Amino acid sequence: MATKNDESDSGGALREPGRFRLLIGGEWAEGESGAYEIVNPATESPVGWAPEASAAQAEAAARAAKEAFPEWSRRAPEERSRLLRAAAARLREKQDELVGLVQAETGATMTVTRTMQVPFCANRFERYARGALEPNETPLPPVVTPAGSQGPGTISSGVAVRQPVGVVTCITSYNFPIVNMAGKMGPALAMGNCVVLKPAPQDPLAVIEVARVFDEVGFPRGVVNVVTGSGPEVGAVLTSSPDVDMVSFTGSTGVGVKIYEAGAATMKRLLLELGGKSANLVFDDADVEKAVRGSASVWTFHSGQICIAPTRLFVQRRLYEEFVERMAKFAAVLPVGDPLDRRTVLGPVISAAHRERIEAHIRSGRDEGAEIVAGGGRPTGIDRGFYVEPTLLAGGHNDMTVAREEIFGPVIVAIPFDDEEDGVALANDSEFGLHGYIWSGDEARALRVAKALRTGTVAINGGVQQHPDAPFGGFKMSGIGRDGGWYALDAYSERQSITWL
Ligand code: NAD
Repeated sequence: MATKNDESDSGGALREPGRFRLLIGGEWAEGESGAYEIVNPATESPVGWAPEASAAQAEAAARAAKEAFPEWSRRAPEERSRLLRAAAARLREKQDELVGLVQAETGATMTVTRTMQVPFCANRFERYARGALEPNETPLPPVVTPAGSQGPGTISSGVAVRQPVGVVTCITSYNFPIVNMAGKMGPALAMGNCVVLKPAPQDPLAVIEVARVFDEVGFPRGVVNVVTGSGPEVGAVLTSSPDVDMVSFTGSTGVGVKIYEAGAATMKRLLLELGGKSANLVFDDADVEKAVRGSASVWTFHSGQICIAPTRLFVQRRLYEEFVERMAKFAAVLPVGDPLDRRTVLGPVISAAHRERIEAHIRSGRDEGAEIVAGGGRPTGIDRGFYVEPTLLAGGHNDMTVAREEIFGPVIVAIPFDDEEDGVALANDSEFGLHGYIWSGDEARALRVAKALRTGTVAINGGVQQHPDAPFGGFKMSGIGRDGGWYALDAYSERQSITWL
């Protein structure tokens, strides 16, 4: 089956060289190292050209942000709030244009792009337009010190003040390019920081358009900058530059470690949202129908390219065979193909290279003894695009490579467990600690298990965490720090204590 999503979807104007530029200190510039092509993962057709920034341009962006910081950080919160709200409104006006662009460069299904990518981005800016107005001062209770050898009795008072950090480099992974970036920009700007955006090489174009919106609605020069590049160099400059105070990073654990190391010499503040290998624990008292639907929909969501993908499916032994069979049946009838078709659930993965990595993982699972009970290859009848079938491996164990390493594709491995203790031990036996799923009819047990999981977030009897103000982040190798709601305002702040007698 050929996809319908051919060259016409991204529009000729987008493919004009120089259409997408860098924003550095209020000036739009072409990349000094040229430009590179962005490819539609569903059609393998060109979407547009992204600028290839030089190291000097990355440094210039950090410098521009530093120069803008004193004035921006002193602006009234009401003004920061007004500008964030204006950006959100303008993004909603440009919704149709942005949906087309995000869809083309990510290969996400049109349904996901239209309902989640663009609206969630605007929602985040609105949330932090409100966030800019939240109080930044927390009074400390007065403390009485009785008279003594140190002097007369005193009452001291104080206040803990949230202050902006300074220049924040925001580096993101591909998958939800503008939503992830908005989750960083929103709270950082609300708190009075200046930002340098470095989107993922694979899907940077819509982030450039978001920066354009911020420029259009009147953010001062240098407050929002964007630089792009096809390799790691631009990001590397921005994680070691002395002009950068904080790095907010979403991406793989391997790159997170490099950023930690690169930032040490200049003591960068870090917010690291890294990889995962989330456990999906299905107890034998669960509502099976609900658990199958919920588990399967997160397994295949965005072709498995989500950090909280439920890639280790632990099913209590009595239910194991039935559950695996039902999941395999679900995969067999799942609509795979053209992301522009409303019925499609599973589109392509981001690139040919990534598809090969996923296929190597499937092979390693089989070689280490697992059985492929669903998928395992490329869908038949699709002759263009980077597609992988939804794949379920069973009969494996938790020490297999496929159960230990992150895959970031529509591949999960099913493993039986005996009882609560066994299930928790298996779930926690991972270097990652991002998210966990629990399906059980006994809510008291589910809560007990949730607290025993060494993960930053847990969803009970539901697909993914729904609460927009909940803290989000990982334990162990899944990251450092928390964003989400109020927690993000805190993450992009320094705490200052002011005391007086
Ligand atoms: P990646 O780590 O390969 O790249 C992420 C970003 O880091 C890109 O912008 C890349 O250009 C940049 N980068 C690469 N090397 C760098 C360096 N040395 N210095 C600075 N920047 C550098 O990740 P990816 O393949 O784009 O995305 C997939 C990963 O992202 C998965 O591990 C996934 O779990 C993770 N992710 C995590 C979350 C979360 O919230 N925890 C959300 C989405 C994705």
